[in-house]
Amino acid sequence: MLLFYLLIFFFGTFIGSFLNVLIDRPARGETVFWGSSHCEECNHKLVWNDLIPLWSYLRLGGRCRYCRSPIPFWLPLVETVTGLLFVLATYIFGLTSSNLSMIDMAIWLYRYMAISLLIVIFFSDLKYHLIYDQIVYTATGITLLYHLFCFFMPNILPITHYPLPITNYFFSAFLSAAFFYLLYALGPKIFHQDTMGLGDVKLAFLMGLLLGYPKIIIALYLAFLTGALVGVILILVKKAERKSQIAFGPFLVGATFVVGFFGEGIWEAAMTLFY
Ligand SMILES: [Zn+2]
Repeated sequence: MLLFYLLIFFFGTFIGSFLNVLIDRPARGETVFWGSSHCEECNHKLVWNDLIPLWSYLRLGGRCRYCRSPIPFWLPLVETVTGLLFVLATYIFGLTSSNLSMIDMAIWLYRYMAISLLIVIFFSDLKYHLIYDQIVYTATGITLLYHLFCFFMPNILPITHYPLPITNYFFSAFLSAAFFYLLYALGPKIFHQDTMGLGDVKLAFLMGLLLGYPKIIIALYLAFLTGALVGVILILVKKAERKSQIAFGPFLVGATFVVGFFGEGIWEAAMTLFY
């Protein structure tokens, strides 16, 4: 079983190195699919040997083989995060290496894709304050397909795959997007500064579609709580002057992961606190 999780981790780091391309190239105005990888500093073309996730970074001591300039730590970070989240999802949602049907494989493909796209949103917003429409739309599209598939073919799915009625996900998506649209529209009028971008509105829709109610409420609560906390800390240490300078996407995505992976546990813990 350890070997199996190790394989999943390496699979994740390989996907992660592709996610780095998705995160960085649009922000630099480069095309994603054409054009080979090259060093940021010396522009030297990188060969397969320089591009093995994590391994190349560690073996080269975090420096370019050709010009010895440091490789941005983001690259191994995204690879590691992707590997770890793939392992976590595999563990929590219980993929076993044997007896996989076509349906199971399709569901796992969907899960790994959704996780990957959320990672791209997290880091593109963190690094560049950009949430790419194409990424959010793709994630929303495949999640919509997943729900429709589960709705129209309920009998071939194990019940654990689909705990809520489909309308729950749609209502959650529309309501959380409407809430963020209000913040986006009213922010400049009430707080005299931008509170949210349209990217956050689209991301909120995706979150509702992914999590459903009540998980969406816990996730939004968690995102605002951690966002405010980090905002205050950054202002205190003078890293930021106003909260609006801090991208909110990473908090939304982070909360989606925490609640998506551990949601039932968090909800039950909260309920035992209240009753
Ligand atoms: Zn170089």
